[in-house]
Amino acid sequence: MSGGEKFLCPFCIEENSADATVCRVCHRDIVVPPPLRAEHQELSRKREQLRLELDRAKAGLKAGRESGLGSGLGRARRRLGM
Ligand SMILES: [Zn+2]
Repeated sequence: MSGGEKFLCPFCIEENSADATVCRVCHRDIVVPPPLRAEHQELSRKREQLRLELDRAKAGLKAGRESGLGSGLGRARRRLGM
């Protein structure tokens, strides 16, 4: 067992060893320059952060809508005898 990190082929999404230069399945060139790989990791991290912020914003929006609009609607319904 090598225990090395795995690298997914960008073309067929098959697993290759990190030091492979050609995909073992589709035989395409899968060499990624180290700086590019670091940049990709950084972007993935940022994307994850943005998604968390978006989820938080959505949750806040939903909670605000339910407590505000929801109670107003309930009052209106009671007044109308619904
Ligand atoms: Zn491939």
